[in-house]
Amino acid sequence: MTSHSKSANGQWSIDQFPVEPQEGKSRFHDFDLPVELMQAVADLGFEYCSPIQAQILPHTLHGIDAIGKAQTGTGKTAAFLMTVITHMLEHPVEGERYLGEPRATIIAPTRELAMQIAEDAELLTKHCDLNVALLIGGMDYDRQLKTLHSKVVDILVATPGRLMDFIERNEVQLHLVETLVIDEADRMLDMGFIPQVRRIVRQTPPRTHRQTLLFSATFTPAILELIERWTDNPVTIEIEPDRVATDSVEQHIYLMSEDKKFRVLANILKSDVVESAIVFANRRDQVRRLHEQLTKRGIECGVLSGEVAQQKRTKTLQRFKDGQLRVIVATDVAGRGIHVDGISHVINFNLPEDPEDYVHRIGRTGRAGATGTSISLACESDSFMLPDIEELLGYTLNYEQAPAHLLEKS
Ligand code: AMP
Repeated sequence: MTSHSKSANGQWSIDQFPVEPQEGKSRFHDFDLPVELMQAVADLGFEYCSPIQAQILPHTLHGIDAIGKAQTGTGKTAAFLMTVITHMLEHPVEGERYLGEPRATIIAPTRELAMQIAEDAELLTKHCDLNVALLIGGMDYDRQLKTLHSKVVDILVATPGRLMDFIERNEVQLHLVETLVIDEADRMLDMGFIPQVRRIVRQTPPRTHRQTLLFSATFTPAILELIERWTDNPVTIEIEPDRVATDSVEQHIYLMSEDKKFRVLANILKSDVVESAIVFANRRDQVRRLHEQLTKRGIECGVLSGEVAQQKRTKTLQRFKDGQLRVIVATDVAGRGIHVDGISHVINFNLPEDPEDYVHRIGRTGRAGATGTSISLACESDSFMLPDIEELLGYTLNYEQAPAHLLEKS
C-alpha cells in the first residue's frame, strides 16, 4: 500500500479502484497520487493515462516546468490539473489565507475552454477541500466578485481580459501563485491576448519561484520566445495529433439519398455484427434528433454533445465503457473524449467538414491492435467532403451503394 492509499475518513480506499497493469500503459496508480484525487479519477472512470499524462506527470509532479505540444482531446487538462491538485494537497498552507489569492492560476483564451477547465477542476477536486473559481468575460462581473469573496480560492481559472480587470481593481492578487498554467498559448497569441498575459505573468512570483506549465498546439518562433521568457528549465513533451493507422479500420462509404440515411443507420445498429458503435453527426441538433429517433425505434443509445452536462456525459461514457450501453451518438468535439478500446463500429451519419475530424472519428475504432469498421452514409452534400478526406488520407476510397438489406424497412 502506498502512503496515499486511504482517504482521511477511511471510507474510500484505492482497493476499490483496481486497474490491472498493462504493458506500454501507465496507470494513475503508478504515481502515488493523493487518495482524494484517485477517488475523483475513479469516479471519472479514467483507468490508464493518456500519452501526454504518462509523459508529463513524472516531471510535473516533481515541480518541474513543462511545455506540452498537444491539442484538445489529448487529456492535457487532466494532466495539468492533477499536477496542481497533487502539489496543493502535498503542501498545505500553514498560515492564514486571504480572499482573492489563488495558489494556482490557469489562463485560457476562450470562455468555453476556461469553463471546461473549471468543470474538470471541480470534478477532480470533488473529494478534497480545494476551491475552484472561474473568471470569464461576458458574464456578470459582480456575481463573479461575490463568488470570489465568498471563500478562499485555490485554483483560479480565467480568460486574460477578465482576470486583468480583477487584478486592476485589486480584487485578485497573484503573488502567492505556486503553479501557473498557460493553456493554448498559440490561440492566445492569435487572439491578441499576449500583452495581457504578459502583464498577468508579471504579477506572479518569478519563474524560479513558481511552476509554469505551458501548452500550445504549435511552436512558432513567437511561442518559443514566450517559453524562453516564462519557464525555467522546462521539459518538452510532444504529442502527435491523434492520427490513426487507418489500415486497422475497414472503411465503407455508402452512397444514398438523404432520406434513406436513418433507415440504413437503424438497420446497421440492429445488426448482430455491431458489438458497440459510435454514431457521429456534425451538429448538436442532429445528434439530439438521432437520439430521439433511435430511442423511438427501441435502440438504446447515449448522447455525447456539448449541450449535455459534463457529469452526464461522463456517466454515459462510463456505461459505454462498461458495456452497459452499446451505442453512443456524438458530435466531433464531444467525441474527442472517447478513449475506449474495443469499439467495433464508427458510423458517420454525415461527413465532417474538416477532414481531420474524419480521421479522428474513424480512429475511435481499430484501437489497441484490434480491427474496426467505419461506415459513412454519404448523400450528395456529403460527397463534396470526400476529395479533401482522400487527400488527407493519401489514397482514394471505394464508394459503394448501400447493401439492399440495409435499405429494407424494418
Ligand atoms: P482534453 O484534451 O483535456 O480536452 O481532454 C479530452 C477528454 O479526455 C476529456 O473529455 C477528458 O475527460 C478525457 N480524458 C482525459 N484523460 C483521460 C484518461 N486518462 N482516460 C480517459 N479519458 C480521459
